[in-house]
Amino acid sequence: MIRFLDKNYNLIYVLKFFIIAWVCIFACQKYAWAQYNAAPDSYYLQQKSLTPFEFTETSTVPLKGSWEYYPQQLIVKPNAVLKSETVSLPISFKQLTGTNKNYGTFIGHFKIPKQYIGRRIAIYIPNQYGAYRMYLNGDFILRLGEVGKDKISHRTENVPKIAFFVLQKEYFTLTIQASNFNTLHGGLENPMRIGLGTTISRQFQQLMMSIGLVCGAVLGIGIFTLMFSIFQGKITRSSIRVFVFGIFILFLTLHNLFSAPYAYTTFTSLSWIWGVRLEYLFTYFTIALFLTYMYLLNWRYIHPIVYFVAMSIFVVDIIITLFTEPEIFEYLIFYSFLFSPVVLLNFAYGFYRTVKLKEKYSTINFWAVILLCTTFLHDFLLTLNLIDSFNLSFISTSFYALLIMFQQSKNYAKHTQYIEQLNNNLLELNSSLDQKVQERTLQLNQLNQQLELQIQIDALTGAFNRRALNAEIQRLFTLTKNHTNHTLAFAMLDVDFFKNYNDFYGHLKGDVVLQDLVKIIQRALPASAYVARYGGEEFAIILHNVPSEVVLNVLQQVLNAVRQAGLEHLNRPDQKPYVTLSMGVSWMDQNHPYADIHELMKAADVQLYAAKNAGRDQYQAFRSWRQKR
Ligand code: GH3
Ligand code: MG
Ligand code: MG
Repeated sequence: MIRFLDKNYNLIYVLKFFIIAWVCIFACQKYAWAQYNAAPDSYYLQQKSLTPFEFTETSTVPLKGSWEYYPQQLIVKPNAVLKSETVSLPISFKQLTGTNKNYGTFIGHFKIPKQYIGRRIAIYIPNQYGAYRMYLNGDFILRLGEVGKDKISHRTENVPKIAFFVLQKEYFTLTIQASNFNTLHGGLENPMRIGLGTTISRQFQQLMMSIGLVCGAVLGIGIFTLMFSIFQGKITRSSIRVFVFGIFILFLTLHNLFSAPYAYTTFTSLSWIWGVRLEYLFTYFTIALFLTYMYLLNWRYIHPIVYFVAMSIFVVDIIITLFTEPEIFEYLIFYSFLFSPVVLLNFAYGFYRTVKLKEKYSTINFWAVILLCTTFLHDFLLTLNLIDSFNLSFISTSFYALLIMFQQSKNYAKHTQYIEQLNNNLLELNSSLDQKVQERTLQLNQLNQQLELQIQIDALTGAFNRRALNAEIQRLFTLTKNHTNHTLAFAMLDVDFFKNYNDFYGHLKGDVVLQDLVKIIQRALPASAYVARYGGEEFAIILHNVPSEVVLNVLQQVLNAVRQAGLEHLNRPDQKPYVTLSMGVSWMDQNHPYADIHELMKAADVQLYAAKNAGRDQYQAFRSWRQKR
């Protein structure tokens, strides 16, 4: 029993011991937590590495300062037992431990200005390549990806984040557990910033909105350029260049969205690996298209061989990026970029040549490329964390695109103006041409009329010729046949003994006599009479609608006039010393028609023959014996 009691007593004693021990441990822990969580200022003041932040209402400061780094440990609060080293951020695992494939905890103690106690504070964390968890005074506040001790439990994400919190006092402790299993990047290598929540938010929004704004503007230009080249409809070197430039701008926009600070993460939930792949792919395409554009713009900027090698490298890069892990393709691009000095030297030489030769736009291109190279260098220094700034190359490339667009639109405007000017000139020319054509047509019509008259006129005498006579007699014959009271008289005239005249006076004088005779005949006749040279020394007269009572008198006047003119002819067998005419007349009206003009003319010819036989220098007339049926 006593043993039993003893045993019981021992048990109670042991229990009591454990309870007291547990209470002590609990109290100690509680004290430690209380000391940690509601740590008095003295706790922080004991810390060797307390960093004060001097941000203001409108400005933020980098989250730099001294941190305790616990390698290969994922802890929340400082631990004096564990091995640690003091580091300053930003720092990569590689700088810390020689390899980026690592994990560990960063703990830092900080102080903010007193007036911001109780205000919302924010920490902006840009992309950090890997995964991290953040604690404030031991309380979890933010994470990215999955922090793990090996490649399996670790999961990378690459998104900028903002942690918001409110502090009850000016001192605080930040713990960041980070892990990474990528060879090239890892750790907390990109600078974080701290400030008031509103200021950090505003700066973040400003950054994202400026990217969105620039991308939007550049995208608009790209689409306009593409459409412009497509709607040109013709495939020429210049339209291909404009097309390439349009695609270059589209890829430039995508590149800007998919490079730091990774604006694409604000509207997509793409996996980290594809985000990185697209970042690289869009960069290759942008540069390749830019080189193609420069190649098409002026072969001096990039030599065909250099261009071919660069494009081959891009093809290999694109294939490898699509099918391998970032560890492989990110290495590859480092080696690929070894070729870039060759391209840059080629550019420099090309620009030197074009500026020297004073080629179009060479100076503006030269300055633009200087600007691009400067910003590329700036971003390179930024990547190495040698300067605290933000990515400038996307602004400079966009600016360059805008500059080229400025050039193109200026060209286009000038071209349009030129075309309009040409159009106006053409219109003016057209109207003056119209006027000229009208003038020429008028002249041509006049000439035609003259020509028509000329082909009706006998060249020697100026009387109508046989051709005109035929048409006129036919016209008047039809008229007379078809109209009551119309009359038509046709007279055939022949110079008497003209052969003798020629023999005596010569042909030239004979020609003059023929000319004189026409004048005399025309003068002796009324204006309506039609006088034609029938051929040789024979003439014809048509009298239309001359009353039958006077028609023979009129014709007699012709013979009289010739006689009276007294044109000398001393070689006649009949002793008359002047030129005379013989005349045969046929005459018709509707009631006494001839069958056709041949019959009419034949009748006149018969009468002429009769006049000749009757002694010449006279007329013989005959009215149609036909009766109208
Ligand atoms: P007739 O008529 O009185 O019987 O005698 P003719 O001598 O006039 O005889 P005919 O009518 O047969 O002769 C025509 C002459 O007219 C022949 C030719 O030398 C002359 N003749 C014809 N045409 C021209 C011409 O254009 N110029 C000149 N000078 N003579 C011409
Ligand atoms: Mg004759
Ligand atoms: Mg004759």
